[in-house]
Amino acid sequence: SETVERHEFNAEVGRLLDLVVHALYSEREIFLRELVANAADAIDKRRFEALVNPELALPADSKLRILPDKAARSITISDAGIGMTKLELGQNLGTIARSGTLAFASKVADAKAEDRPSLIGQFGVGFYSAFMVADRVEVTSRHAGSEEAWSWASEGRGDYTLAPASRAEPGTDIVLHLKEDAGEYLEPIRLQTIIRKWADHITVPIVLVHDGEEEPANAGTALWRKPKSEISEDDYAEFYRHVSHAFDTPWATLHWRAEGALDFSALLFVPGMKPFQAVEGERESRVRLHVRRMFITDQAGMLPPWLRFVTGVVDTEDLPLNVSREMLQATPVLARIRRAVTAKVLGELKSRAKDAESYAGFWENFGPILKEGLYEDAEHRKDLSALIRFRSSSVEGWTSLADYVSRMKPEQKDIYYLVGDDTEALAKSPQLEGFRARGVEVLLLADQIDSFWPERLDRFEEKPVRSITQGNIDLSQLPLEGETAEAADLSALLPKLTEALKDEVAEVRASDRLVDSAVLLSASAMGPDLQMQRLLRRAGR
Ligand code: ADP
Ligand code: MG
Repeated sequence: SETVERHEFNAEVGRLLDLVVHALYSEREIFLRELVANAADAIDKRRFEALVNPELALPADSKLRILPDKAARSITISDAGIGMTKLELGQNLGTIARSGTLAFASKVADAKAEDRPSLIGQFGVGFYSAFMVADRVEVTSRHAGSEEAWSWASEGRGDYTLAPASRAEPGTDIVLHLKEDAGEYLEPIRLQTIIRKWADHITVPIVLVHDGEEEPANAGTALWRKPKSEISEDDYAEFYRHVSHAFDTPWATLHWRAEGALDFSALLFVPGMKPFQAVEGERESRVRLHVRRMFITDQAGMLPPWLRFVTGVVDTEDLPLNVSREMLQATPVLARIRRAVTAKVLGELKSRAKDAESYAGFWENFGPILKEGLYEDAEHRKDLSALIRFRSSSVEGWTSLADYVSRMKPEQKDIYYLVGDDTEALAKSPQLEGFRARGVEVLLLADQIDSFWPERLDRFEEKPVRSITQGNIDLSQLPLEGETAEAADLSALLPKLTEALKDEVAEVRASDRLVDSAVLLSASAMGPDLQMQRLLRRAGR
């Protein structure tokens, strides 16, 4: 009819759809998790809006309904959530609004087949996963507070249509017309299993409509409110996968209840694997904030950005239910909860660091992120300095600053480090010769952030932390170990070299830092060290 509008998907959606449909075939069942999560989010959003706008209140028995229809070969997922306007249908289901999704798409394309599920899980390609099982998807939605309903439909190829529709109540119906080979998803048992696996902890009641009957499909308990004694490792791991969109097992699980000055329950996880999102996505913590079980937001900045890899839930009694997201940022209660939660996570890391082997795994995943805190968070710098680990010129594996200090030479005053692009190359650098010859250890730093934070740390246990490429480091107080040749007299040569190289370097001087090599570059004591100069050059400065 004339009222049907046809729209092209933008190019990114086309690419993403292609990937979702072809690259992720083995993980098809997660379409249901994604659609159920969206429906649950929509219900949460409506409940939240209704706090300030009571006309939008949810019907008393609102449920999320899943209705398989064998005759029609379709599944319908219905919610009484916030719904979408015509504009939102086009924007949310026709473009890729979220930053980083494109980067994700190319990551998936490059990833090994077995790594793809975890990538998609972390990122949640969300709605588009419907096209893994369906060759046509229809979304009929009415925004809460509006009389109008609209229908979005697509076969997941180049375009989608928008047409006026009708819906008795606000909310959304998603109809999946299943592909030939996706018949298994018409079986209630199969659907039930998927929901148990992925969506059991969703607090909105989910029902499977089957022979006209509604069967409850999820347990819907707020796991974090239960006593620890009633929760198994498996329960925790499953919940972790649910809140984190992950497929692995958490490296650390923190579950505690604070009572007294502050009243909250928290269930937090440190992932066992490195999530793509934490490393290349946004910097904000996405730990979920609930007030008396009700989901409020995952953008409360519950943890500092340098702990953004931590996932989970904080549920408090200390905030009013009708707190607006804007108000949240300003409330002192939240600031106190944040501080308490951050301290708890740091305490856990500190105690887990005692198990060096296990901690090494954690460090390899999240060390570079944690180091951001050394740079930007003065309040936690001291705690963090005890948690950082390094490669070193003298020992295998990872070492801490405290261990470094315990190995310092009696005459040694400073903690030395060398920054570069990779530790193997650093270990061979001529910059190390003079230190090696004196048995002096140098920490080898190869993360991007390493060019920035050491200056801010400045000292550890009163000992200055110094880049060996910056300034004239005087090793003359430190005795040479083993046999070395007598240093030659260079007093006649140096002025000539300085003159000859005057366009390239500021000064040529004799150094006790070289043993086998003839020359090395050094930065001035006042300016940036060599690696920093390299970075600045790359940045076009
Ligand atoms: P995400 O959930 O990560 O934002 P999705 O691709 O899953 O990404 O969904 C895109 C957007 O479409 C959602 O953010 C939401 O605004 C909208 N949306 C999807 N499903 C629903 C629904 N059932 N009710 C209301 N809005 C929805
Ligand atoms: Mg989603």
